[in-house]
Parts: sequence; C-alpha cells; structure tokens
Amino acid sequence: MDSIINIQPVRQTVAKTTRQWVRKTGEVVVKTYPQSQYNTNYYVKNKDKLTEHHLCACGNYYTLPNKTGHNNTKVHKLYVKMSVLINPMPLDL
Ligand SMILES: [Zn+2]
Repeated sequence: MDSIINIQPVRQTVAKTTRQWVRKTGEVVVKTYPQSQYNTNYYVKNKDKLTEHHLCACGNYYTLPNKTGHNNTKVHKLYVKMSVLINPMPLDL
C-alpha cells in the first residue's frame, strides 16, 4: 500500500502567502508569494477595468469594487423597492 501523503501547511511569519499541494503525479508543489505585491500588480494591470464607471438602473454610477456598497445605498434600495411596486414579478400559474 502506498504511503498516505499528509502535508501540513508551511508555517512562516506570513503564512497566507505560502501554498502547498500535491499533484496527481505525486509531485509536491510549493509556491510562496507576497500577497501585497500581488494585489498591487493586479491593480496596475486591471486599473482601467476597476476604475470604469457603470451606470446603474437607479441613475447613479458605481465602480466594480464598489458595486456592493452601491447596492446598499438608500437611493438604490429605494429604486429597487419602487420598481417592484411598479413592475411586480409575474406569477407562475
Ligand atoms: Zn443603483
């Protein structure tokens, strides 16, 4: 019987930046990367997409990282409530 591979996560000062897994071939892969550097690179690479303004149905603008925050604003919630009153969902009969 083959030995069971049980690998514990590598504990370092910054544990979240180290990932370790075993491929089907048995090869152990360990990757270490600084999360803050990754986030900075992601922002620079996707800056146009992240800062693009989208027009909401309620009439206001939002960016993708702030979409959830926009959906929780009073104006958007009021718009959703009013639109449900004006155009109720059809019932499935
Ligand atoms: Zn909205």
